[in-house]
Amino acid sequence: MSEQGGELEAVIGLEIHIQLATATKMFCSCALSFGDPPNTHTCPVCLGLPGSLPVANARAVHFGLMIGLALGSELAPRSIFHRKNYFYPDLPKGYQISQYDEPLCRGGHLGEVRIHRVHLEEDAAKLTHLGASGRIHGSDASIVDFNRGGTPLAEIVTEPDLRSAEQAGEWLKLLRTTMRRLGVSDVNMEEGSLRCDANISLRAAGSEQLGVKTELKNMNSFRFIERGIRAEIARQQKLIAGGGTVTQETLHFDPASGAITSLRSKEEAHD
Ligand code: ADP
Ligand code: MG
Ligand code: ZN
Repeated sequence: MSEQGGELEAVIGLEIHIQLATATKMFCSCALSFGDPPNTHTCPVCLGLPGSLPVANARAVHFGLMIGLALGSELAPRSIFHRKNYFYPDLPKGYQISQYDEPLCRGGHLGEVRIHRVHLEEDAAKLTHLGASGRIHGSDASIVDFNRGGTPLAEIVTEPDLRSAEQAGEWLKLLRTTMRRLGVSDVNMEEGSLRCDANISLRAAGSEQLGVKTELKNMNSFRFIERGIRAEIARQQKLIAGGGTVTQETLHFDPASGAITSLRSKEEAHD
């Protein structure tokens, strides 16, 4: 890689969501399920009906603490949940219960990669876009299954310590094995119990300063993650070599075509 003759290096940080293998959801007593008939595991709490009271799942907190211990994190003596407000059809409440400034675990590392934080939150419902095949009143239809809504998630955020697609893929496998051995999650990418976003930037090799990053969203296989990161590094290299600059945005990698498309430019914190 070169920029006016100088070498460029890739800088990668991962945000990993794992569904915790609890019996029930994060804030209600609905059973976790996969593959059951849609909308059969819901209640006023996970549908966000007015007056319902979320109660944190003790086992999910326990699993979160186990993850923190395994990663050598500092466990919070006091940790709280926040409402992260956004509007989307997979979130009937209009907010996700997540952690913001007092996450369950901070710091730590796995192998050569430092952990920034681990926090708990709830999963959104599952949207399926039927497209033209499911047209209702002349519009493309999407259907929603609230069974997944409220599933406990641990979000593990790394520091930007990875330097290549291969290293990111290998490290993610190490994380998966670690989580599997702990017994806190099925960590199955095909079923969505392990999901990964990759943040990617380039900088002059040897520089301490971070370049502008893009975020590749929700990749759901190890092969696609490595291919996606490789494609995004190549796209940024080409952009910079052509005298352009990288803009901060959220991207989607289509494994079928190899294309990278923009989902949205980075919004300001809306919570
Ligand atoms: P955001 O506010 O956009 O979510 P964060 O600072 O919370 O960004 O970082 C999210 C993830 O992106 C972390 O895994 C972090 O290591 C990684 N990251 C942050 N800055 C960069 C960068 N310049 N290049 C690559 N990865 C980065
Ligand atoms: Mg983030
Ligand atoms: Zn429920």
